[in-house]
Amino acid sequence: MKIKTRFAPSPTGYLHVGGARTALYSWLFTRHLGGEFVLRIEDTDLERSTQEAIDAIMDGMNWLNLDWDEGPYFQTKRFDRYNAVIDEMLEQGTAYKCYCSKERLEALRETQMANGEKPRYDGRCRGSHDHHAADEPCVVRFANPQDGSVVFDDKIRGPIEFSNLELDDLIIRRTDGSPTYNFCVVVDDWDMEITHVIRGEDHINNTPRQINILKALGAPVPEYAHVSMILGDDGKKLSKRHGAVGVMQYRDDGYLPEALLNYLVRLGWSHGDQEIFSIEEMKSLFTLEAINKSASAFNTEKLQWLNHHYINHMPPEYVATHLLWHVEQLGIDTRNGPQLFEIVTLLGERCKTLKEMAEACRYFYEDFSEFDADAAKKHLRPVARQPLEAVKAKLAALTEWTPATVHDAIQGTADELGVGMGKVGMPLRVAVTGAGQSPGMDVTVHAIGQRRALARIDQALAYIAEREAQQ
Ligand code: GLU
Repeated sequence: MKIKTRFAPSPTGYLHVGGARTALYSWLFTRHLGGEFVLRIEDTDLERSTQEAIDAIMDGMNWLNLDWDEGPYFQTKRFDRYNAVIDEMLEQGTAYKCYCSKERLEALRETQMANGEKPRYDGRCRGSHDHHAADEPCVVRFANPQDGSVVFDDKIRGPIEFSNLELDDLIIRRTDGSPTYNFCVVVDDWDMEITHVIRGEDHINNTPRQINILKALGAPVPEYAHVSMILGDDGKKLSKRHGAVGVMQYRDDGYLPEALLNYLVRLGWSHGDQEIFSIEEMKSLFTLEAINKSASAFNTEKLQWLNHHYINHMPPEYVATHLLWHVEQLGIDTRNGPQLFEIVTLLGERCKTLKEMAEACRYFYEDFSEFDADAAKKHLRPVARQPLEAVKAKLAALTEWTPATVHDAIQGTADELGVGMGKVGMPLRVAVTGAGQSPGMDVTVHAIGQRRALARIDQALAYIAEREAQQ
C-alpha cells in the first residue's frame, strides 16, 4: 500500500507552532515510509479564510523546508465535486433533504435541553414522504447509522469508541448549496487516497462522523493519529500571549529552521533520551507509536539551546545564508568586509540567535564615530595611548595579514612594554570594535582588516588625546 498523508490547514491565521508540528509529523511519517505528502488548504470558511493566511502558511512550509508532493489543493475549487457526491448520496439514500424550519429546530433544541438531553436533530425528515416543491429551501443531512458504534484505533491514543446515538444526522449541504466542512474533508481524504490522517486532537470528535460518511460512500477508512496540544511554559494552551507562535516569527527572531524542526519533533515525540536530530535522522527514526499522548509544554530556553547548537554545528556557509536575511533587515552592507560565514565562525559561540549575531556584527562592516561609553571610560584612558601606538606600529608593519601575524603583533607589544596582554588587548578591542566585548582580538582585528583597524586605532588615539586635553 502506498502511504499518503496530508497537512490540511485552514487559512484563518499564520502557520503556528502547533500546526507546524502536525505538518512535520505527517511529513516525517511519509518520508520515513517513502510515501507521499499532500498539502490541502481548507478554505471553505469564506469569512475567515484570507489570502494573507494562505501566503503565511506557504512561507512557513517553505522556510521549514517541508516539501509536498501534491497540491496545494484548495477546497473552494472543489465544490462541484463535493456537490456531485452529495447528489449521488441523495439518490442512494445515504443522505436526505431536510426541510425543518429554524424555528422547529430551535424549539426542539430547547425541549431537549430542558429535559437534560444532548441537543441533536431528531430525524424528522429522514424517510419522510412529504411533498415539497423543487425550489423549497432545504439542507441535506447525512443519514448517520442509528445504532451500533464507531470504533477506531488511534495510532497515538489507542482504541476510541463513539456510540452512533451520540452522533446526529450531520448537515452536509447548507441551504445556500455549499457543502460543510466535515463533508469536504471526507471527500478530499477519499479522492486524495489519504492512508493516514495525522492531525490535532481537537478533531477527535469529527473522526467518527467522517468515518461513518466514508463507510456510506464505500470509501476506505484511513488510519487516524491525533496529536496532543502544545501548552505554554505556564501550562495554559499555547497562544499569542506566549510570544512568538507563528512560524515566521521564529525566523524573524533569529532561529534556524533546523533548530525549530528539531525542537518541534521532540515536543511530543522521543527516541530514547536523544535530543539532537538531523533531518535525515528524524526521517529514519520517526514513528507514530513513539508520539506522546500527553500535552507538551513549550520551552523557549530549550529552543534557544538547540538554536545555539545548530548555529555552531552546521556548516558556517549554510548558516550564513540565513544570517544574510537578518543583516539585510538591519541594512548592513556586507560587501564591504569579511564574508558572512566568517562572522558565523567568529560570533557563533556567543550568540543564541541569528538576530543577535546580525546586531553584533555591525562593526565588521561599518565604521562608527562613537565608542560604548562604559568601555571607553574604562579602557581608552591616557595609559592606553602608549600600547595603542605601539600595537598600531606593529600592525601597520605587517606585510602578511593573518590571525597569527596579528596575534604576534599584539603579543610582541605586550612583551616589549612588559605588560599583560589585557593592557594591550582591551584598549585595542574598544578601539576597533567600539565596545568592550568581542571574540578573540587576533581573529577580530584580522577580520576587520588592516586599513580599517589602523584607522580605528587612530580614532581611539584622538579620543584619548581629547580626554587628556580636557583633564
Ligand atoms: N483544517 C483543519 C485545521 O486546520 C485540519 C483538518 C484535518 O486535518 O482533518 O485544524
